[in-house]
Amino acid sequence: RLTVRELTKSFGTYRAVDAVTLDLEPGEFFCLLGPSGCGKSTLLRLIAGFERPTSGQIRLGDQDLTGLPPHRRPVNMMFQSYALFPHMSVAGNIGYGLKDMGRTAAAVRVAELLRLVRLEGFGERRPETLSGGQRQRVALARALAREPQLLLLDEPLGALDRGLREETQGELRTIQRRLGTAFVVVTHDPEEAMMLADRIGVMEAGRLVQVAPPIALYRRPVNRYVAGLLGDVN
Ligand code: ATP
Ligand code: MG
Repeated sequence: RLTVRELTKSFGTYRAVDAVTLDLEPGEFFCLLGPSGCGKSTLLRLIAGFERPTSGQIRLGDQDLTGLPPHRRPVNMMFQSYALFPHMSVAGNIGYGLKDMGRTAAAVRVAELLRLVRLEGFGERRPETLSGGQRQRVALARALAREPQLLLLDEPLGALDRGLREETQGELRTIQRRLGTAFVVVTHDPEEAMMLADRIGVMEAGRLVQVAPPIALYRRPVNRYVAGLLGDVN
């Protein structure tokens, strides 16, 4: 279980993340909603270890992650841009973080991941020859390669067009359920959050203003902003 306590990140005098406290259950699908600039990406980067908090604490179980560098955390992050290595094959991209595993074991793991994201037979292709949805799945497989306990996804479906987006939403949920990995997914789309999430967290100006299951958020929004978000869905 991930516990975030009073986590704050200031840039100068501006608090991009402001005293956020949050508990994540193991295997939970958590969606983070909120307007542009409210601090969603910064919160993810703090949890992943790419930013150092101004104050506050991040723990996973009884392990304090706060001072650990990103690669020592049992956490991984998938960026909106996917950030695939263009000069490497699909298999090379997925296996990039597995070099300490030994070739044979890494190849077995890569094959398993290709199957998981339904890209068998695509291992030798270059990312540039793939569709947007296929690239997204390569990025997902790469992010899952080292079996993180927690995966942070910053608008994983943001680059996909509407039809593909709906199809991929279901896939993401299926993969998450099968692995039992906790996911924190940033989205701009309240409908997507309502459909996917076990719980939704709503951010406004650096603060986490409400955390609740979709139905509870819809029935008992804490303020007008939250009510307005979900009002658009129904
Ligand atoms: P979006 O939905 O547009 O991606 P977001 O919720 O992810 O927005 P963040 O990227 O977390 O927002 O940014 C939160 C605030 O912190 C913004 O006002 C941003 O300008 C500011 N910010 C983020 N990183 C830095 C930085 N390195 N230096 C200064 N300000 C920053
Ligand atoms: Mg962002």
